[in-house]
Amino acid sequence: LQARLADQSAGPVLLVDLDDFKAINDSLGHQAGDEVLKTVAGRLVSASRQNDVVARLGGDEFAILLGEGTSAPEATGVATRIEAQLKLPIDIGLTSLVIGASVGVAMPEEGQSLDDLVRAADVALYRSKELGKGRATVFEPGMDREAREHLVLIGALRESLSREHVIAHYQPIFEISTNRIVGVEALARWDHPTRGLLLPGQFLGHAERAGLAGTISNAVFAQACSALASWSDVPGRPFVSLNVAASQLADHRIVADLKALVARHGIDASQLSLEITESAAIQDFDRGLAVLNRIRDLGCRISLDDFGTGYSSLSMLHRLPIDAVKLDRSFVEGFGPAASARSLLGAAIDIAGALGLEVIAEGVERAGQLSILRSLGCRYAQGFLLGSPQDELRTGLLLRGEATDLRYPADLTTRSALPSLAR
Ligand code: C2E
Ligand code: CA
Ligand code: CA
Repeated sequence: LQARLADQSAGPVLLVDLDDFKAINDSLGHQAGDEVLKTVAGRLVSASRQNDVVARLGGDEFAILLGEGTSAPEATGVATRIEAQLKLPIDIGLTSLVIGASVGVAMPEEGQSLDDLVRAADVALYRSKELGKGRATVFEPGMDREAREHLVLIGALRESLSREHVIAHYQPIFEISTNRIVGVEALARWDHPTRGLLLPGQFLGHAERAGLAGTISNAVFAQACSALASWSDVPGRPFVSLNVAASQLADHRIVADLKALVARHGIDASQLSLEITESAAIQDFDRGLAVLNRIRDLGCRISLDDFGTGYSSLSMLHRLPIDAVKLDRSFVEGFGPAASARSLLGAAIDIAGALGLEVIAEGVERAGQLSILRSLGCRYAQGFLLGSPQDELRTGLLLRGEATDLRYPADLTTRSALPSLAR
């Protein structure tokens, strides 16, 4: 393959990477995965032109070397055709799968080696993935700058982690029928040295790329357990929900870490609920399952987060050892007057109920949504309507009933903006 690529005088390079292919392999088996790859290869060939070279680089990654002299618009034309082709359903036995692909395109430059060209296409491919997959991106010189910015951000993040400037905020979870707080979800915040309080959307993606997502979660776990210990006098024994990073499900260390935290802070493991996402669980399903079972043996509860956004959610519900599902915000947002959306939501709640799972609706912003959820039999809710994430001190006040209205966006405040509440 290398020889074949090297033989060609360089035209544009396209790198194609299937989105979530591993999930297909894991859930439907390798034979199905092979079928998918064959179909994809066929479609790539038909989307390219006669002088283009299509090659499989390994796994679910393909490269297409376009003929010399191919213009940028022609190259993006091929990329668009590929995107369209790969969005068509693929029939595997009785199932029909819809997969997508991310594409990176690089145009050859004077004096550039093939290696550099492929690297540029890879940077562009990475960008496509980051922008939410299912798209093509053409490499631009600015992307190098962003790669540098990424490194600067990661440097600052490591520093902040060591100074404990990555902190946990807590958003209350309510029982709808009683309007009582039953627990809180711990959410990571970065108290950045110059930029104020940052939300996960501003740094978690970078952290994941740098392999720091687990470190962030661990920092949040430790703070949340210490907070939970300090709330031991709160009536009703609220639980704390912790977001598990995908990487944490890949090894058993999390089990020992949780055990140590529970012992150190003298808390009850049953007051910890771990939130996992379907995509994290299926990255390495067997191992993830083993880790989850051991976490459950400790006495912690497990919730399936962002339910309704994955594609194999229903089968996941009984394959994973879970106690609750968190209905994704898009689910809750989606229903308005349309009866179909409402019955979909109702069906999801009923299915969870039939499997003995609790249901927590996320992202409740309007009173109307809450009353629909109530009428559909959803037991728990979380959202800006009820309470936004707050720091540990305010959360303590809220849990003890010493503060009530916490609906304003507390995340806009930092420790420095709130001297009287400084930790
Ligand atoms: P998530 O687990 O789905 O958490 C809920 C997110 O929805 C939070 O965003 C919360 O502030 C936001 N939210 C809550 N109520 C509403 C509402 O009514 N409307 C809207 N529009 N949003 C609402 P946040 O804190 O920015 O966190 C984003 C994501 O970052 C989380 O989504 C979670 O996936 C991840 N995350 C947060 N903390 C951690 C952590 O410690 N470890 C890991 N691995 N991931 C974390
Ligand atoms: Ca969550
Ligand atoms: Ca969620």
